Amino acid sequence: MKEIEGIITDAPKGGAKYGKFQIIEDEGNIRVQTLYTGICGTDRGMVAGHLDFTYNPEGQSFTVLGHEALGRIMDPGSSTAFKKGDLVVPVVRRPGDCINCRIGRPDNCSDGKKHEAGITGKNGFMRKSFVDSEEFLVKVPDSSMLDYAVLTEPMKNVMKAMEVFGTVSRRAIISSDDSTFEGMRCVVIGTGPEAFLYAMSFSDLGFSTIITNRHPIDDNRMKILSYFHITFVDYSKDDSLIGDNINVIVDTSGDPGTIFRFFRRLSYNGIALLFGTNSNAPATGVDGRDIDRMIERNLTLVGTVDAAKIHYVQALEKLSRWGNMPNSPLKNLITGIYKPSDTGIFTERNPNEIKAVIKWA
Ligand code: NAP
Repeated sequence: MKEIEGIITDAPKGGAKYGKFQIIEDEGNIRVQTLYTGICGTDRGMVAGHLDFTYNPEGQSFTVLGHEALGRIMDPGSSTAFKKGDLVVPVVRRPGDCINCRIGRPDNCSDGKKHEAGITGKNGFMRKSFVDSEEFLVKVPDSSMLDYAVLTEPMKNVMKAMEVFGTVSRRAIISSDDSTFEGMRCVVIGTGPEAFLYAMSFSDLGFSTIITNRHPIDDNRMKILSYFHITFVDYSKDDSLIGDNINVIVDTSGDPGTIFRFFRRLSYNGIALLFGTNSNAPATGVDGRDIDRMIERNLTLVGTVDAAKIHYVQALEKLSRWGNMPNSPLKNLITGIYKPSDTGIFTERNPNEIKAVIKWA
C-alpha cells in the first residue's frame, strides 16, 4: 500500500473526499507530478452516484478520481523515452485481453474487460503524483502548452471520432467537387467543451459549422466561436437558421429528441456522429418515414467512444497548432482553476463554465 494525497469517491455510490489515503500501488516505474486535472461530466456523475457501470480497483473500497490530466516527469525510472521535467498526458483506458485491446485499441474493446483510470477498476490522477508505465504516457511536444495541454484528453475523443467519420464516409464521396470540404455543412449539438472541440475541428476541415443549444450562450463562448469561424444558433428561438441539407451532425447532448430533430435534416450520404450520453433523457418517436429516409439517403448513425494512444498524439498536435495561432483564445476554454480541496466543484457547476480544472502544483 502507498499513501497519496488526492480526491476519492466510492464507485458507484458516489461522494468526494479530499485528503490522505492508502492505495494499492500503481504499476510502472515512472513517477509523474500531477499539474492539472480536468473535471468532466463523468467525474460529476460518479460523485453524484449516477454511474452504475463504475467500480473501485480490486482490493480498495474507493477510487482516486480523475481521468483528464497533465503531469511532469519527476523520475523517469528506467525509461529512455522521457527525462525529468518532460510534460506528459496519461492514457485513460488500460487494455484487457481481447483482440482489440491486444493491438493497442482498448477504445474498441470487444469484451468490456478493459479498465479506465479514475472510472472503472483503476485509480485516477486527481492526486499530487502517480506512477505509470512508458506505454501509457504521451509526451507533450511543446512546453508552451502548459496552460492548455490538460485539454488533450477531451480532444483525443474528437480525433478518434474523426477516424470514425473517415471510415464511415468511405462509402460515398461526401466532399465538395474540388475534393475539399468547402461548402459542406456540419451541425454540432451542445455547447460544452467537447462540442467546442468538435466544432473547431470540423471548421478546420473547411466545413461551414454551426453549434447549437436550446438557450443563448455567454460572451466568452461567442468570442471563441467567432475566432474559429463557427456560428452559434439558439434553436429554441429559430431553428430555421440551421436549415436543411446538413452533411454531418455531431451530438454531444445525448438527447434522442434533439438528435432526431436534426437527423431528419441530413442530406444524401449524411453522417450523424453520436458522442454525448444521457441515460435520463426522455424517449422520442421514430416512424417509418424516418427509416425510409435513412435508407433512401444512405444515412449513417454511428456511435464513437474514447480513443487510442495515437489520438492523444494527434490531439496534442492539433492543440499545439491552435494554441500557437496569433491571439489564440484556446486557453479561454478553461474557465475556472480550482484547488484540490474545492470538492464543491463536483456538485455545483458555474453556468458559464466550459472546462473547470484543478491545479495540483
Ligand atoms: P457537457 O459540458 O455536459 O456538454 C453537454 C452539452 O449538451 C451541454 O452544452 C448541454 O447544454 C448540451 N445539451 C444538453 N441537452 C441538450 C439539448 N436538448 N439540446 C442542445 N444541447 C443540449 O459535457 P462534455 O464534457 O462537453 O461532454 C459531452 C457529452 O459527451 C457528455 O454527455 C459526456 O458524458 C459525453 N462523453 C462521451 C465520451 C465518449 O467517449 N463518447 C467521452 C467523454 C464525454 P446545457 O449545459 O446548457 O444543458
